[in-house]
Amino acid sequence: MPTINLRGAQKNYGVAAANAVADLDLEIRDGEFMCLLGPSGCGKTTTLRMIAGLENLSGGEIKVGNRVVDSVREGIFVPPEKREMGLVFQSYALWPHLTIERNTDFGLRLRNLPKAEREARVERVMQALDIAKYRDRYPSQLSGGQQQRVALARMLAVNPGVLLLDEPLSNLDARLRLEMRAELKRLHHEFKTTIVFVTHDQWEAMTLATTIAVMNEGTLQQMGTPNDIYDRPANRFVAEFVGSPPINILNFGKPGASDIADQAEAYLSAKFPQLRGIGSVGLRPEAMSYATSREKVPQNSFSAEMTVTGVLPTGGSWILELKSKNHTLFLTTHALPRIDSGERVFVHAPPDAIHVFDLQGKRISE
Ligand code: ATP
Repeated sequence: MPTINLRGAQKNYGVAAANAVADLDLEIRDGEFMCLLGPSGCGKTTTLRMIAGLENLSGGEIKVGNRVVDSVREGIFVPPEKREMGLVFQSYALWPHLTIERNTDFGLRLRNLPKAEREARVERVMQALDIAKYRDRYPSQLSGGQQQRVALARMLAVNPGVLLLDEPLSNLDARLRLEMRAELKRLHHEFKTTIVFVTHDQWEAMTLATTIAVMNEGTLQQMGTPNDIYDRPANRFVAEFVGSPPINILNFGKPGASDIADQAEAYLSAKFPQLRGIGSVGLRPEAMSYATSREKVPQNSFSAEMTVTGVLPTGGSWILELKSKNHTLFLTTHALPRIDSGERVFVHAPPDAIHVFDLQGKRISE
C-alpha cells in the first residue's frame, strides 16, 4: 500500500467558528500502525473519515501514493468505495439476517473469490478472533464485544491495504480489550496491513502503535514512536496527556511563591545555563525517587525536601503524595514504602528526567 499523505488538511463543518481539523500534515507509511490519539472532540474521527472519503476536505489535500484522492484546489474527490480501505467504526453494522460465518464472509462474496479461498480466509480470521464457536449464531445473539470482533473479522478477511479503525475496542471489558490489543498486534504483524486507529486511550495507543499522532483542538501536537511521545513530549499538552498518574508540573514565574519550583529553577539555571525563558518543568511520577536523608540523594540529581501526605497502594506499586509549601507531587514506587504520612523525605530526579517547557509550553530541554 502506498503512503497516505495529508497536506494542510482542513475540515470545517460550517457550524462552529473553529475548524474540526485545522491544517493537518500527516504521513502514514506502508505497514504502519498509526494511532490518532487525543481528547474527545479533537478531530480524530474527522481525520479518519477524511482519509476514508466519508468527509470531503474544506482545504488542503490527501494523496495515496501519487494519486490525489481529495484536493480542494484541484477539485478532485475520490469516493470511499474507490479508495480500497476497510473501515470499522464504533457502531459496527452487521447484517442481522446473516449468521456470523456469513457476515464474516460478506466482503469476500462481494469480491467473487473462489469458494475454497473464501472458506480458508473466513476460517483463519474466525479462529484468530475466537469467534468460530459462534459461526451459526446471528448478531442479535452475541454481546456487543463479540459483535465488534465479528466486524473486525469481516474487515480482516478482505485484507484491505489500509484498515481504518475508530475506537473498535470500546465495547469490550478490560480483559478482552487487552486480549484484542495483543490480537490486533499479531494480526498487524501477520497481515502487514497499514492500520490507522483512533483512540482517546493513551495506553491503547502506547501498546499498539508504531507511530502515535497526538492531536488537540484539530491540530497535530506531535508525531512519533510511543517512546518519543512519552520520553520527549513536544509540549506540555502531550506531556500531560500521556502518562498515568499524570506528569507533575511546576510552574515558574512567581518568585518566592513556590518553594520547590524555585529550587528546580535554581537547579536548572546552574545545570543548564543555556535554557532561557523557562515556563514550567515536568517530572513524571515514575521517574522520581525519594531518599530519607540528603546524603542518600545521588549526586547531580535535582532534589527537594517534601512531606509525605499519603501512601496509596495500587496493587504491586504505590503512589506517594508529597507536599511542599505550595505544591503537591505524586511519585510512583514499586518497592514497598517504609515511610508514613507526616515524614520528611528528599524527592529526587536525574537531570534527564526533567522536562523543561518554555512560556508557551513548548519543550526546550533535550
Ligand atoms: P471523540 O473522541 O469524542 O469521537 P474526535 O476527536 O473523534 O472526538 P471529531 O468527532 O472528529 O472528534 O470532532 C471534532 C469536532 O468537530 C468536534 O468539535 C465535533 O463537535 C465537530 N463535529 C464532528 N462531526 C460533526 C458534524 N457532522 N457536524 C458538525 N460538527 C461536527
